[in-house]
Amino acid sequence: MNNRFENRVAVVTGGCRGIGKSIAIKLASEGAKVYALDYVIPNESEIFCDNPEIAKNVKCLQADVTNFTSIENCVNTIIEEESKIDILVNNAGITRDNLLMRMSEAEWDAVLNTNLKGAFICTKIISRPMMSQRYGRIVNIGSVVGLMGNAGQSNYSASKAGLVGFTKSIARELASRNILVNLVAPGYVRTAMTEKLNEEQKKAFIENIPLKRVAEPEDIANAVAFLCSDEASYITGNILNVNGGLYL
Ligand code: NDP
Repeated sequence: MNNRFENRVAVVTGGCRGIGKSIAIKLASEGAKVYALDYVIPNESEIFCDNPEIAKNVKCLQADVTNFTSIENCVNTIIEEESKIDILVNNAGITRDNLLMRMSEAEWDAVLNTNLKGAFICTKIISRPMMSQRYGRIVNIGSVVGLMGNAGQSNYSASKAGLVGFTKSIARELASRNILVNLVAPGYVRTAMTEKLNEEQKKAFIENIPLKRVAEPEDIANAVAFLCSDEASYITGNILNVNGGLYL
């Protein structure tokens, strides 16, 4: 097993399900102590127990990324236990799709609050200990639709496009403290959310992807791990597209 993240402490928001879980497993499998922050915590022994070596490196904490106090409490717990946080992956995200004409203010606010403000809250709180230790890796999870737009997803696209500007600004602010900030923009990923599409919808979507397949969550996790690793120590403020060529 590669041990690129030995002695590193990582926080992955939305880390108990979907892409976030794959990211947590990838970092933990390479030696990181991972705190998976999630709104609803499934039975911990159920979600990470298939590999005890990995399970011992992952701890789940209940958290709401839209709530400043909730994240502060989690970070206090982590600092008490580990004394530091080296890696933050802002992965928690939701969709509330609707055409603009039908989109409610609540649908707009929920998506912007979770996807964009959530990243602001976690980054603001966690960059503080990173600044003191003069080391940090922050990876925001955007989306291909934040770059190309998508009918029916104006709230989601706006939140993900917002993350691009946030990433570049924070990369400039934190560079002098050796904190690197990048964004991974996945295309269409095989998760519970996307498995809901019917076969015809999936076929139509795949037709537009030059690599003719959807991403596995592990494809995204591998890109995140690279950006968190020492091999990426001269990369900051970048957008890494992991979309099979869907948007070039
Ligand atoms: P999932 O819905 O499977 O997972 C999202 C996770 O975020 C869930 O565990 C959810 O928790 C958590 N979450 C939501 N709101 C909050 C909150 N307020 N506080 C803490 N945790 C929260 O989504 P995916 O794995 O598919 O997506 C992960 C990221 O990747 C998202 O940012 C998404 O936008 C992005 N992405 C996904 C793509 C895809 O094709 N799936 C494509 C491009 C980008 P709970 O279940 O407990 O509510």
